[in-house]
Amino acid sequence: MTLHKAKWWLPLDDGVVQCKLCPRQCHIQPGCTGYCAVRENRDGTLYSLSYGHPVSVAIDPIEKKPLAHFMPGTKTLSFGAFGCNLGCVFCQNYSLSRQSYTPDTLYRDISPAQIVKLTQQHKCPSLSFTYNEPSTFAEYAIDIAQLAHKAGIKTVLVSNGYISQDAADELYPLIDAANIDMKGFSQDFYSQMCQATLQPVLDSLEKLYALSVHLEITTLIIPGKNDDDASTIAWLDWIEAHLDKSVPLHFNAYYPAYKCSIPCTQPETLYHIRSLAQKRGFINIHLGNI
Ligand code: SF4
Repeated sequence: MTLHKAKWWLPLDDGVVQCKLCPRQCHIQPGCTGYCAVRENRDGTLYSLSYGHPVSVAIDPIEKKPLAHFMPGTKTLSFGAFGCNLGCVFCQNYSLSRQSYTPDTLYRDISPAQIVKLTQQHKCPSLSFTYNEPSTFAEYAIDIAQLAHKAGIKTVLVSNGYISQDAADELYPLIDAANIDMKGFSQDFYSQMCQATLQPVLDSLEKLYALSVHLEITTLIIPGKNDDDASTIAWLDWIEAHLDKSVPLHFNAYYPAYKCSIPCTQPETLYHIRSLAQKRGFINIHLGNI
């Protein structure tokens, strides 16, 4: 495997490095990877294992990202790698997110220029960083996005928004449209269900909005965990105060997956959430997986 030296890290004592790409700020021992399993310390230097190594490449309708209000009716060259920096027990995509690069795993070797060429060959007006968490391959995404813009191709980010401010400052200005996952509007939800913190995600939403990136937000509604009225109202309050009521919101039904066996979301729950939002004047509400 060809290895790409990572950005956003610091050397510490005894060959240990600290990754600064996301809020976890992992301390990584020599020979080990960080929490996301795709950033490895080799002899005191941090490398990105996923740079140039997508494991899933496909052409999707842009609505599948989901983006309902960005270049509707077009196709997007979509790709992702292994790895994720959240630990969601309900992960709907754990075969990629919790997988890592080993001698037995299959992956491709595709340079940024080749990704752009592939996008052109398939006549897609955009390319999408998606499937796993793209923040974990931010170096690759940045190099691709720069080339894509030179070729007149739009860039789409489908992300959990869990990224350090330094990395976001480099990646987000190169993004044309983003769908950010809001897992659940409370710190309790993020700590119990995702082993993470809420505030960095809110910071990312505000940063994308301030940059005028086309922004849509998706929440997977999990019965008994993030479907109560108080959470929904707090979430709508936050959007109204920090973004605006026209930001498209997607509320999707959850299905049992990975370590979570809670029964699936009933459509009535999503209809109720939609009506709460519409009564508040939110104009772009979309329901999914029903
Ligand atoms: S990107 Fe990965 S290695 Fe870096 S801090 Fe986040 S979880 Fe840790």
